[in-house]
Amino acid sequence: MTTEASETNNLIKGKPLAKQVRRELKQEVAALAEQGIKPCLAVVLVGEDPASAIYVRNKARSCRRVGIEARDHRLPETTSQGDLLALVQQLNDDAAVHGILVQLPLPRGLDEKAILETIDPAKDVDGFHPVNMGRLLAGDPQFVPCTPLGIMRMLREAGTELKGAEAVVVGRSNIVGKPMAQLLLAEHCTVTICHSRTRDLAGVVRRADIVVAAVGVARLVKGDWIKEGATVIDVGINRVDDKLVGDVAFDEAAPRAAAITPVPGGVGPMTIAMLLANTIKAARLAGA
Ligand code: NAD
Repeated sequence: MTTEASETNNLIKGKPLAKQVRRELKQEVAALAEQGIKPCLAVVLVGEDPASAIYVRNKARSCRRVGIEARDHRLPETTSQGDLLALVQQLNDDAAVHGILVQLPLPRGLDEKAILETIDPAKDVDGFHPVNMGRLLAGDPQFVPCTPLGIMRMLREAGTELKGAEAVVVGRSNIVGKPMAQLLLAEHCTVTICHSRTRDLAGVVRRADIVVAAVGVARLVKGDWIKEGATVIDVGINRVDDKLVGDVAFDEAAPRAAAITPVPGGVGPMTIAMLLANTIKAARLAGA
């Protein structure tokens, strides 16, 4: 039997949860307004990459919906490293700007690492600065990358038992896999991180009470790898025949899972909601 996303009743839906988060955030924005603070996110886009342009537009629109000011900075593909660094520095020095987001990937020739390291850690709402990564590792997080932060909220809402659970994270990127593993560890999961050189991926995933797939390979995680009753979080976004699919073979996995995120409409909306939450947090901390 195949199961379509709309037919299963074990879905962890990102859209309504993100809506709920935005409602909470609007109240926080109102409370900050009483103190004369208007949260402001500077969004920097370099070049003409169409996917990045859509992401940036969605992020700015979401900001405005909850009352965060979004300042767009569009720079041409030919922007030099020096000019981009100067803009980041200018935003660091601007007290009215609470969060800085430099949309990745940057055009070739620009040193992503140097640019991310120039962002003031107190304005690093993406949580990619080494100071924020280090704080997460040390168990004292301040700004946590938005995708794993949103996933933790989804797990809480789904009522997934974390303490002592076997969690398997597939993918070890700095923006998803590694911070995800740290957050699960902090909640007392037993965490395994898998990656492209993992020998027996199926065998490891079969042990998992919680699977987080963040790879970028369509339907890599097969249904029969999913333990009965596991919680499955699918971060992947892959285009197959003009359709968006995740890293998990959803139709096979959904009947075995206690809870599973759809693609699209799962992790994605929560990622943006957490960017808003981080921006408001930055504004609150700056005003304190
Ligand atoms: P990445 O390319 O930086 O990292 C992919 C990871 O997968 C690597 O660590 C690699 O070792 C691992 N990997 C590759 N092939 C593998 C294999 N065959 N078996 C096991 N592991 C393998 O990707 P990323 O930035 O972490 O993103 C992963 C996916 O999540 C992409 O599809 C991306 O579009 C999506 N994504 C979605 C959101 C969202 O909000 N929904 C946010 C970020 C990323």
